[in-house]
Amino acid sequence: MTRQLSLNDAVPSPSEDLVIANATVITGAFLPVLENGAIFIRAGKISATGSAQQIISQAKTKIPGIRVLDATGYIVMPGLFNTHTHVAMGFFRGLGHGKTDMIESFLFPAEKSLTPELLKPLSYSYIFDGLRAGVTSFVDHYYFSEGIGRAFETFGVRGWIGETVADLGGAFPGRESWQRAKDLIEKTKFGPLIKHVIAPHAADTVSPGLLKECADYAKANNLTLHMHLSQTDGELNRVKARDNMTPVAAAKKAGALGPRSLVVHLTSATDDDIKTIKDSGATIGYCPTSTVMYDRLAKIKSFHEMDIPLAIGTDCAASNDAADSLGELKIASVLARTHGVDAAKISPDHLLAMATTIPAKVLGVEKELGTLEAGKQADMVFLKTSLSSEPADNKLANVIYSMGARDVTHVMVNGNWALWNRTLPSLNEGKLKDEYLAAVAEIRHRIQKSGHS
Ligand SMILES: [Zn+2]
Repeated sequence: MTRQLSLNDAVPSPSEDLVIANATVITGAFLPVLENGAIFIRAGKISATGSAQQIISQAKTKIPGIRVLDATGYIVMPGLFNTHTHVAMGFFRGLGHGKTDMIESFLFPAEKSLTPELLKPLSYSYIFDGLRAGVTSFVDHYYFSEGIGRAFETFGVRGWIGETVADLGGAFPGRESWQRAKDLIEKTKFGPLIKHVIAPHAADTVSPGLLKECADYAKANNLTLHMHLSQTDGELNRVKARDNMTPVAAAKKAGALGPRSLVVHLTSATDDDIKTIKDSGATIGYCPTSTVMYDRLAKIKSFHEMDIPLAIGTDCAASNDAADSLGELKIASVLARTHGVDAAKISPDHLLAMATTIPAKVLGVEKELGTLEAGKQADMVFLKTSLSSEPADNKLANVIYSMGARDVTHVMVNGNWALWNRTLPSLNEGKLKDEYLAAVAEIRHRIQKSGHS
């Protein structure tokens, strides 16, 4: 039985073994593109990829009644990561434009009005936005993260959640934040799609001793350390006054830099700092739109020329109204070229790696995610080709430069359909929107009452 992916179809059963056939399969960054390709999915994992004829025959031998989904006219690519988000900050959408000193004078005071029960519904909009842009894995860093984890579970997407740790600044400063972070990891139960990161807020808002505790815990528990670093000139000046060194040097001293460190922004980093990052093996969480909105771009020419691993992120709705990792790749490319980065360093494969294999590696899941290869989890994005995107001689370049989130129609996470024909197959979008807007109204009311609007 062959079934065409189309707007009129019913959603296939969850976790059904099947073959996706006749698609253009972008198997991954620096990996082959299969024209008229197929993917055999078994028990939520990719069992094989290859030509449609070969894979259909192989799958039918193993599972005689297996369903074949005809994906003619679709491009299938690996699920994308958004490696730096604060999904619950959807209520700030549109409010960050033109704000100066946004973090200390605007975000932190407003966030004091957050309550744990608001976090889940506040996360719905940004998650849905990301999902519709092909994001299957979100790396989040925020307060009261249990609600955020529950929101990711609701949408059936992967979430790496980190409870913000800060004892010297932020909305809820104090050592209790570190206890909350450890309790989230050690005492709160989540399903298999939710994992953890250790999330010290930044070098100025976390004391050197606490940053070291976070780094030691991350290493001891094989977790990624995810922090803002050298995000603003304010952070640079505060750490210099406190420790007589730069935020990057302070992070290094605390043991917070290494191959499992995801350090975000580096806007005020010096040349020496960038060399330190390179030598440490850390990955930079690169949020092009957000850094420009906050302050200015970092020394991105050095990032590219020194081949520092860059993982794409969008940051929050205050500094990047959209959660569109795919769109952010095109912006990253344009910015690199305007800064004189050689085109060979920012090829379509380099860009795809920023949203797939590089994030998977820093999160320690490169054997499970990031490409469409046998043995990996079935996380994939479907884009529908049309008159608007032809001709497409280089399929990956076409996806990044000509197509975009508007062409994403279906998203599979862990073998399940998280998005089907641009809609949520097992959820009521209208109900989620009502819950989200009620939570937005509540937090805005609380902020107004507190005098921080
Ligand atoms: Zn951030």
